[in-house]
Amino acid sequence: MRASRVSASYGAKVAVAESHLFGGTCVNVGCIPKKLFSYAAHWREEFEIAQAYGWTTAVPRFDWPTLLANKDKEIARLNGVYEHVLSVAGAEIIRGRATVVDPHTVEVNGRRHSAKHILIATGSWPVIPPIPGREYAITSNEAFHLPALPRRALVVGGGYIALEFASIFQGLGVQTTLSYRGKRLLRGFDADLGERIADEMQHRGMTIHFGGEPASIIKHPHELEVCYTDGPHQRTDLVLFATGRKPVTADLGLEAAGVKLAPDGAIVVDRYSKTSVDSIHAIGDVTNRINLTPVATAEAMWLARTLFRGEPTPVDHEHVPTAVFAQPNLATVGLTEEQARSRYGEVDIYKTYFRPLKLTMTEKKERVFMKLVVDRASQRVVGAHMIGMDAGEVIQGIAIAVKLGATKAQFDTTLGIHPTVAEEFVTMREKAP
Ligand SMILES: Cc1cc2nc3c(=O)[nH]c(=O)nc-3n(C[C@H](O)[C@H](O)[C@H](O)COP(=O)(O)OP(=O)(O)OC[C@H]3O[C@@H](n4cnc5c(N)ncnc54)[C@H](O)[C@@H]3O)c2cc1C
Repeated sequence: MRASRVSASYGAKVAVAESHLFGGTCVNVGCIPKKLFSYAAHWREEFEIAQAYGWTTAVPRFDWPTLLANKDKEIARLNGVYEHVLSVAGAEIIRGRATVVDPHTVEVNGRRHSAKHILIATGSWPVIPPIPGREYAITSNEAFHLPALPRRALVVGGGYIALEFASIFQGLGVQTTLSYRGKRLLRGFDADLGERIADEMQHRGMTIHFGGEPASIIKHPHELEVCYTDGPHQRTDLVLFATGRKPVTADLGLEAAGVKLAPDGAIVVDRYSKTSVDSIHAIGDVTNRINLTPVATAEAMWLARTLFRGEPTPVDHEHVPTAVFAQPNLATVGLTEEQARSRYGEVDIYKTYFRPLKLTMTEKKERVFMKLVVDRASQRVVGAHMIGMDAGEVIQGIAIAVKLGATKAQFDTTLGIHPTVAEEFVTMREKAP
């Protein structure tokens, strides 16, 4: 979408082939519907908090079909907007599955199209490990269209998609277990975040099973039985695997055209998103670099600039902010403490862990966690991490400062907005021991 639109705006003649729905994973079975579900799940807590503020409501009741219908309506609207935007930009829309015939030819529905440049942006697809009974499990794709909410759910995985779906189910009243074979959730995130988010999710009543993973799934007439590698069995109504996604590169004609793939199937590209074939580029999840929508769209814009505006622009994957819309939310930008220590040697760490004002009149135990990672020599803030309500909204602002190389002293001279949760990012004075 983005590469077509921006390239066309630079004067390129563009055609785009789409085999399914416009907007790709993010719009149809990713970020957007996921966030809508996450909002839906959050209402339970808001109803509970409201009582401490004097509000009485009828006992809230949740209706899954209403949420699904409203979500589908919004996604259909977005599909239309995206297609319209492409047409207005002047891109030719070709519906169907494309395959690469040679470095300058693509085939769709039996018709061949030639081009000076070919861009592969076919994304990624969820995979379920090859265990007996895998056919009874679902992935995030199906979770967006469940005919009914289960009474119990098991979500397998320790990454952001697993945490988000576990939180969605739990928030919507499903008795939820999260199963992760490792010891700490969110590999790749700051260790404090992985540990504390598990505590916060458990406080909310979620069961987390660390250490084992499902070895098989048995279907009984009214439930599923999951047998774990570490012994116990679990009865549940739904099993969702969020244990990984695979780049969509199979049967695309890539190898025959000379495009090199990595062992995981990802397209190998250089800093300019060029594959091993000069006329073929690849961006987004299919390259398995940083699999996030803003990264994919930025790669698209850098590539369009390189190819059609005569400004060679390499990708910039430094300081990518990201959020996990679990309950509570979590967000991060820059380096983890571990990464900063290995890159800079000595670092200063600032942390705060507090009960937010909004919850002080309630029985809720939730706490907000914030952490700054500072390179001791330059005093630049090289990482900012947060768990707490609206963490994504807060970290988006902090990300500007981190990207611009702000120092801890500059954070300190910034005045807070009082009373907010975010102000703590500019009032942390005590170094963690
Ligand atoms: C559950 C979930 C939640 C997510 N949440 C977030 C989030 O909150 N924030 C975030 O930044 N990212 C999130 N992501 C990741 C984000 O969705 C992806 O990083 C992003 O969509 C990648 O964009 P892409 O263009 O590379 O691929 P995709 O969006 O997957 O698009 C690929 C497109 O190519 C089409 N296609 C594939 N093969 C062919 C072919 N042969 N011919 C023609 N068309 C083809 C597909 O139909 C699809 O439309 C989430 C992902 C998932 C699964």
